[in-house]
Amino acid sequence: MNADLVIVGAGLFGLTIAQQAAERAGARVEIIDVRSHIGGNVYSYIDEETGAEIHQYGAHLFHTSTKRVWDYVNRFTAFTDYVHRVYATHDGEVYPLPINLGTINQFFRAVYTPAEARQLIAEQAGELAGTDPTNLNDKGIQLIGRPLYEAFIKNYTAKQWQTDPAELPASIIKRLPVRFNYDNRYFKDTWEGLPRDGYTAWMERMIDDPRIHVTLGTDFFDESQPLNKKALRAAGTPVVYTGPIDRYFGYELGDLKWRTVDFKEVRYDEDDHFGCPVMNFSDADVPYTRAIEFKNFNPERRDAQNHNRTVVWEEYSRFAERGDEPYYPINTDADKALYERYAARAAAEPNVVFGGCLGTYKYYDMHNVIDAALTAYEEQVAPMLRAR
Ligand code: FAD
Ligand code: UDP
Repeated sequence: MNADLVIVGAGLFGLTIAQQAAERAGARVEIIDVRSHIGGNVYSYIDEETGAEIHQYGAHLFHTSTKRVWDYVNRFTAFTDYVHRVYATHDGEVYPLPINLGTINQFFRAVYTPAEARQLIAEQAGELAGTDPTNLNDKGIQLIGRPLYEAFIKNYTAKQWQTDPAELPASIIKRLPVRFNYDNRYFKDTWEGLPRDGYTAWMERMIDDPRIHVTLGTDFFDESQPLNKKALRAAGTPVVYTGPIDRYFGYELGDLKWRTVDFKEVRYDEDDHFGCPVMNFSDADVPYTRAIEFKNFNPERRDAQNHNRTVVWEEYSRFAERGDEPYYPINTDADKALYERYAARAAAEPNVVFGGCLGTYKYYDMHNVIDAALTAYEEQVAPMLRAR
């Protein structure tokens, strides 16, 4: 093995580091991933029957306001002009999200102006005025008033977190504000879109370099393969590790807690089942949180899609066990304290940089993880390569 750098994990963090190390330092990079494909959670494939691009680990929408990230990603893919919009089914009706004047007027059967709606919500939220709620239930009521909270947030959140909203931190819904106009764009970022020829083509182009080599189906902790933890440690080879940080240390201090999502696939003999890519289900009687109709993410590909069949994935959220895909860090105070103890050990680990969602126990959007990787390359990986 004559690599200058070994990267554990072919997700966006690992691929960005690999691309930078090869381009900027001329490094020979070996990437390993335990999965059978590159891209990590961003991986997607084309469904043969319908022509839909299925995002295997959950729907991924790219958005950013960070110029250096937008410039960077555009080196590897063009983006469609897709703008993310979400609808919600509640009590037999479909409403636009995030909660906006359209949602409010439909819900209250009214024609409120922005000022009238603002006043109504202020009155309804008044029961908690002047308080600073720390739990999600009270925060939700304070942001949008009890009727809208109970219709659109309470049951959805309980399904998603399997936890009484009164026990959840308020921070979870701070990013879903109410709007007093008819703007129902989900994201507020400067740029958004979907990779024109799919996520996997984008990921492949990032590492299209003779100095970068990828080995799939290979576990860093499997000592029967040469690029394993013990062997690389003994050789002093620089490593970027993007797997779970607790796993790296053999779970010695305990397990960090995650939520995962199970996907149930349903196919319909129709061209279009929902008329939109994402339908949330706000009520408790539907057991899943939302349904994704993948064809509708790419209307520009209609000519290549089947008009008689469509594929939908229903999402069921639950706590992850070891062996499940870890998707969303639960981040209780106990988890954060445990992570800090692991992070202290990681900082003392020679020749290893920990990064990405799993390596730092953080929920990062794609643009955040790319930005973090560009910084980690400059501040941690480049010095480690120079020191060799
Ligand atoms: P990952 O993609 O998880 O890559 C880590 C890789 O390491 C994996 O491929 C794994 O197999 C590998 N690995 C782990 N352990 C080992 C080992 N022992 N040996 C070898 N390989 C190993 N972001 C957005 O911007 N927009 C969205 O709409 C969006 N939606 C999301 C929906 C869901 C359900 C989830 C979970 C995330 C979503 N994200 C979204 C976030 C996005 O997925 C992440 O920002 C990004 O994938 C993180 O990249 P990463 O490299 O840190 O991790
Ligand atoms: N949420 C909700 N109703 C919805 C959509 C979201 O109550 O229809 C709440 C829920 O608590 C969720 C949070 O808002 O955990 C963040 O939702 P978002 O869709 O932004 O996050 P994602 O689950 O995609 O990460």
